[in-house]
Amino acid sequence: MHVNSRCRIHPKTETKAPPSVEVGSEVEEEPPSLQAGCVAAETLPAVKATRLKPSLKLVPTDPIQYRRKFRQLYYPAITDRQWNDWQWQIANRVRSQMQLEKVLTLAPQEKLAMEGLRTKLPLAITPYYLSLLVGHGADYALRRTVVPTVSEFMKMPDEADDPLGEENQSPVPGLVHRYPDRVLFLTLDFCSTYCRYCTRSRVVGHGRLFFNRRRLEQALEYIRRTPTIRDVLLSGGDPLTLGDARLEWLLTRLRQIKHVEIIRIGTKVPAVLPQRITPQLVRMLRRFHPLWMSLHFTHPDECTPDAFRACQRLADAGIPLGSQTVLLRDINDSVDTMRDLVHHLMRMRVRPYYLYQCDPISGSSHFRTPVEKGLEIIHGLRGFTSGYAVPTYVIDAPGGGGKIPLMPQYCQGHDSAGLGLKNYEEKLFHYPDVR
Ligand code: SF4
Repeated sequence: MHVNSRCRIHPKTETKAPPSVEVGSEVEEEPPSLQAGCVAAETLPAVKATRLKPSLKLVPTDPIQYRRKFRQLYYPAITDRQWNDWQWQIANRVRSQMQLEKVLTLAPQEKLAMEGLRTKLPLAITPYYLSLLVGHGADYALRRTVVPTVSEFMKMPDEADDPLGEENQSPVPGLVHRYPDRVLFLTLDFCSTYCRYCTRSRVVGHGRLFFNRRRLEQALEYIRRTPTIRDVLLSGGDPLTLGDARLEWLLTRLRQIKHVEIIRIGTKVPAVLPQRITPQLVRMLRRFHPLWMSLHFTHPDECTPDAFRACQRLADAGIPLGSQTVLLRDINDSVDTMRDLVHHLMRMRVRPYYLYQCDPISGSSHFRTPVEKGLEIIHGLRGFTSGYAVPTYVIDAPGGGGKIPLMPQYCQGHDSAGLGLKNYEEKLFHYPDVR
């Protein structure tokens, strides 16, 4: 049990603190088998916030020094060992307005949003990710991805709670079978940090989809008796918030199914909880090759030395890494920001894989950009940087149509002599196509 022994805050509205259970047991709980509700606020110094904030107000010029200072001010008694313990990070997530206000000065639109969160995607931010937010204003890109605003409560006519129609393509609870040869396996609904634009906000963080043996066996049985399934994507929630033993149990069960060729894990852990990528975890994961990972990075500021180390460990274990990035208004919707992100990812040995047009989930209009913006970004990358660094821009078609790739118009059409083409510099070329 990695719980701050000095923690005395257990509000009733906090996450239900579950009992510790064995792998695959019937008891439903929030991972990773530890007591939740012990929060960062309790570890903050007993000094008025107004005294602390001025020294951390400026935008950091040296982020590493800055984060060190953050820890000295807000977690003075926390040792490196605790800080680098992923279970400590999860146990001490910031989960309420009161806790958040100890560290950030909330804007009116953020304060107002906290009230309505009872029925929506909850608030949760790891102390590590919080350290990336401090010193910036309410319009800071990373802050906007995790701190709610009232805009979340504005539902536009074309928005839906389940825009991708996943519920209609779910043969058993927590399994989405959209494409013939692969399934999406929702392992649990828990994440260490909740993204305000989450496509699965109807499910995630509500404490309804558990790592529960009965449900998991049902999903495994469906996969077992469907021989066309050769690829299983574990997602959620975030599967890497499960403890090693549970994850190992699930991977072992999947590996026992002969026709499952590859297993993929979708996770945001390297960006929000890089401490989770321990040597023990990667030692266990490498036994289940071919195992791939889709990492969720949104902005270059997430590519810290900690995230770099986490990706390095995964890559050294032979796990191919791809990134999935959601295009978000005023967060990463410029060529410069996206170029910076993909270059960081390449250095972290993560191949930029997909750039997603933001799904029209309820309350997402403040995050969504015109499709033109995505095309402009791809146009600004293709030819101007390594081909490996250019992700595929896709729209996940509303209603369950699957991912549809979009490309800027490079092809100028056929004529009797061949194909007209425009290159990245807008120069025209002709290719003698064969008829
Ligand atoms: S990590 Fe993924 S599943 Fe979790 S809140 Fe973010 S987008 Fe949703």
